[in-house]
Amino acid sequence: MSSARWLQDRPGVLDAAYRATHTVLQSVEPLLRRLGFERLGGLFETGERWSKGPLFDCQMCGQCILHSTGMTCPMTCPKNLRNGPCGGVRANGHCEVKPEMPCVWVLAWERAAKMGDHGNEIHLIQPPVDRRLQDTSSWLNTLSERDQFRPAGWISVDDIGVVQHG
Ligand code: SF4
Repeated sequence: MSSARWLQDRPGVLDAAYRATHTVLQSVEPLLRRLGFERLGGLFETGERWSKGPLFDCQMCGQCILHSTGMTCPMTCPKNLRNGPCGGVRANGHCEVKPEMPCVWVLAWERAAKMGDHGNEIHLIQPPVDRRLQDTSSWLNTLSERDQFRPAGWISVDDIGVVQHG
């Protein structure tokens, strides 16, 4: 087993690292804002590629939801699902698109269950991926709240519960 996979199966450790990083970045957010998020983009993007790439197989979607997916990157799902699993999971828990691959969302739910109360975020409904943020820094997008702006025509996730069907 690779060291990355070993760590992925211990989402509590990764959750603690995530929270520590979040706390540090929030504490320096005023300084980062003064320096300019755009100017810092390249630096943060490189940092995320080098750290989250090997660890999570991060695809640099720019709107990280690892904390809501058992610290399992949803963009490694061949369908790029942000809510899952789909209905195609095989009886052995593998992917219908890539039969040799364990379903990313089965892993996500298993790992979320190991995260205690923090794992409950997997029940949140996630909006679709905003492709405009591809290859940008998700940390900077969180701090600047750029990841909260949805394309025109998209409804808020908060409104999904009142959408009428049929
Ligand atoms: S959710 Fe997006 S930012 Fe987070 S690890 Fe996956 S591709 Fe990277």
